[in-house]
Amino acid sequence: MAEITLESLTKVYPDGTHAVTDLDLEVGTGEFVVFVGPSGCGKTTALRMIAGLETITSGQVVLDGQVINDLPPKDRDIAMVFQNYALYPHMNAAKNMGFPLKMRGLPQREIDTRVTEAARVLGLSDTLHKKPRTLSGGQRQRVAMGRAIVRNPQAFLMDEPLSNLDAKLRVEMRAEISRIQRDLGVTTIYVTHDQTEALTMGDRVAVMRNGVLQQVAVPKELYARPRNLFVAEFIGSPAMNLVTADLERSDGDVRAAFGSHRLRLDPATLERHPGLSGYEGRKIVLGIRPEDIEDAAVLGETDSERVISVVCDIREDMGSEVVVRFNVDADRAATREVVEALAVEDAEDEETRLAAERARGEGVVFVARLDRTTEARERQPLAVQVDVAQLHFFDPETGARIGESDGA
Ligand code: ATP
Repeated sequence: MAEITLESLTKVYPDGTHAVTDLDLEVGTGEFVVFVGPSGCGKTTALRMIAGLETITSGQVVLDGQVINDLPPKDRDIAMVFQNYALYPHMNAAKNMGFPLKMRGLPQREIDTRVTEAARVLGLSDTLHKKPRTLSGGQRQRVAMGRAIVRNPQAFLMDEPLSNLDAKLRVEMRAEISRIQRDLGVTTIYVTHDQTEALTMGDRVAVMRNGVLQQVAVPKELYARPRNLFVAEFIGSPAMNLVTADLERSDGDVRAAFGSHRLRLDPATLERHPGLSGYEGRKIVLGIRPEDIEDAAVLGETDSERVISVVCDIREDMGSEVVVRFNVDADRAATREVVEALAVEDAEDEETRLAAERARGEGVVFVARLDRTTEARERQPLAVQVDVAQLHFFDPETGARIGESDGA
């Protein structure tokens, strides 16, 4: 088991592409850290430098106190699991799993013991005799994991290992990989572009953008206190609603005004965000998570200073909740790359389409997750109340989160 430390890790490809810039990160012994970010943000390059498959332009990879920059991959005692887990078609599962040990010249008895144990951990004991073509996608993925596990490596590096599986299997394997990693306690770095995968699997999640680490935190922290607009929009599905607002003070109260709407900020919120005082009379970016908006009619008791009146455009019944979308006559605040990345990556995906639409359209489309008892109807007026205690505030120029007091 090992601790992996990255110190100012940097990669500039020969064509001048800055793939990874000054990446600093400590991954503790037994920890599961996920690198997440849109396509091209440098996740794979970072992982390949740790594995030794890519030369390092500058900085260091330190494994248990030893700089391993120049150590060949085979001497690193790190096992990598790829997206394309090429199994040998003519070998059964057991032979596929034992292959790396055979290459190292381990005695057959030792190989058998390790394969049997790995198969037990992976739930593959009954499928060891099967050839890859007769295995399900999930079983094949597990065999690929088995090949890494039998080596008893000091660390696992996984590059989008679930991306070839269908959605349902992906969800199952997520939980499975997390369980196996916990059982084995092997330090793991996992790369994905899927923020849900990152949040559900990682002990900590490192969000990257254009080769630069944006924030590394436990999932809850990342969700509750995104450090900047990019993280705010990338983490969470449906994404955080972001809108440019004017911060106004009048009659002793502070309000955030956007379009024809005004939200009064309560004293507790202002107290928790001392940084906001410097923004009075200026523009800020307001962030509202979809679950922090509720149908006023459902709430019964409402506070008119926190209610905004809109027209419901789309209503989707999800069973456990109702997702509604409505237009707000104000300026959208979004990091262009998020929108572009989303639009390119998976265009048939609903969220993506909406994100792209939001970027193009007039005003801002807000998404709210309402209680399932809501009677909101499409093309009808709707009054929604915003939980102002949960608002997020960002600087419109830098995109940085506006200062909070400790313990907020
Ligand atoms: P994806 O999720 O699409 O795999 P990623 O976040 O893993 O993306 P990388 O594959 O690390 O990103 O690529 C980071 C950047 O480096 C991209 O701009 C990419 O085009 C560039 N890049 C990757 N490999 C090379 C290479 N061999 N030569 C030049 N540029 C490269």
